[in-house]
Amino acid sequence: MRNNYKNAKRIVTRSMFLFLAIIVFVVIVPVGAVSAKDSSTPVYDQLVSGKKIMQSRSYDKPEKPTVYLTFDDGPSDLTPEVLDILKREGIRATFFVCGNQVAIRKDILKRIVDEGHAIGNHTYNHEYKDLYSDFDHFWGQIQKTEKIIQEVAGVRTPLLRAPGGTATNFDAFYFYYLDQAGYTIYDWNIDSGDSRKLNVPTKEIISTVEGSPLRHELTVLMHDGTGHKTSVEALPTIIHYFKNKGYSFAPITTKTNPEQFAVKKLKWTRSVKDASFTKQLGVMQKYAVDHNPNPKPVAVKEKEPAVETRPSLELDIGKQQLIMPPVQYMLSGNNNLKVPLRTIVESMGGTIKWDEVKQKVVIHYGALNVDYDTVHHKATIYYMGKQLKSYAWMDIEWRDGSIYVPWQVIVEQLRQKGVFSSGEKMLKLTVTPAIHAELLKI
Ligand SMILES: [Zn+2]
Repeated sequence: MRNNYKNAKRIVTRSMFLFLAIIVFVVIVPVGAVSAKDSSTPVYDQLVSGKKIMQSRSYDKPEKPTVYLTFDDGPSDLTPEVLDILKREGIRATFFVCGNQVAIRKDILKRIVDEGHAIGNHTYNHEYKDLYSDFDHFWGQIQKTEKIIQEVAGVRTPLLRAPGGTATNFDAFYFYYLDQAGYTIYDWNIDSGDSRKLNVPTKEIISTVEGSPLRHELTVLMHDGTGHKTSVEALPTIIHYFKNKGYSFAPITTKTNPEQFAVKKLKWTRSVKDASFTKQLGVMQKYAVDHNPNPKPVAVKEKEPAVETRPSLELDIGKQQLIMPPVQYMLSGNNNLKVPLRTIVESMGGTIKWDEVKQKVVIHYGALNVDYDTVHHKATIYYMGKQLKSYAWMDIEWRDGSIYVPWQVIVEQLRQKGVFSSGEKMLKLTVTPAIHAELLKI
């Protein structure tokens, strides 16, 4: 691969970046002629409308069909029996524990971790009414549980399962806040039905699991909380059933593609105001920075081809050609090429500044100004001081104090909206073959 890169003939890339795109927009498209609903709607409004907005992350697809067994509501006095079975079968699973149970069974939590299973956060007291009355309360319980897990077992878990699952409990704000703070939410695609009522018969649990559709990756919901004796009894048969079907078993990690339910009409009444949204988002983002050495704990970076083996990216910006050495651009999952905004803007003769107080990036280019509000992920475009349009810019990334923009996503998004029909040719993006190969591989 290294040689391929070295030998790869660098072709000049026909490319164009958002900034020029904006100019094309201003010059070619009459103001108001665009109905770019999604891209122009602020994040807050999109969330109000129920749209889930998550950071793009990359996940590993296991080679073999895989079952993620998950046990909720423990640890309880039944948990050691579950651990014995797992040990005997030589498999690992995931335990979504409640903080108040950890507090009274610390040794069991330690045993779970010592035996190589994954721990997830399942809130402190599992009380739906408290948890879903408002996010602030939910968040308090997540932190409390995280703290006790860390104190007892020395691990901090970014895995989270909503009591009762997310459907009808989580709105788009819950998803968004937790995602911004660096958590991943795991629902399931097989419900063993073991919590449908008290003492579900063992046979019923087994037949529910065996009657569920199979997929390459299966997240199975079971319970090891108090009162779930029959789940423990059903477990060996369930394990053998999947083993006979050729499945492997694995604990959930942050690289596991999360099974998540769609946002549905809530069972609960709660309201979110724009002001509290801004405040809460600030809390979550600060949390991410404070608690994750890499605020975007995505596996992508590991997959990024080693910088020295990549060719330079060659861009045509208007009449000017810009050669971007490998260290200057980012190549990550989801066909994602990110470029430093400052380099692009400055190469065009524009200026870019950081407004610390307002947490905004401010771009000047001739009569054109663009503000990018990093809290709301919203870009606002001004021409001769007059506001023209607002866009949501998602998936922006910071590295070493520079802001990186996924340009293909933005270009595609704008093109889809028909904004640039007349500038289509200029917006065409092609990259050097070697980079293209990497994009496909990821
Ligand atoms: Zn539960």
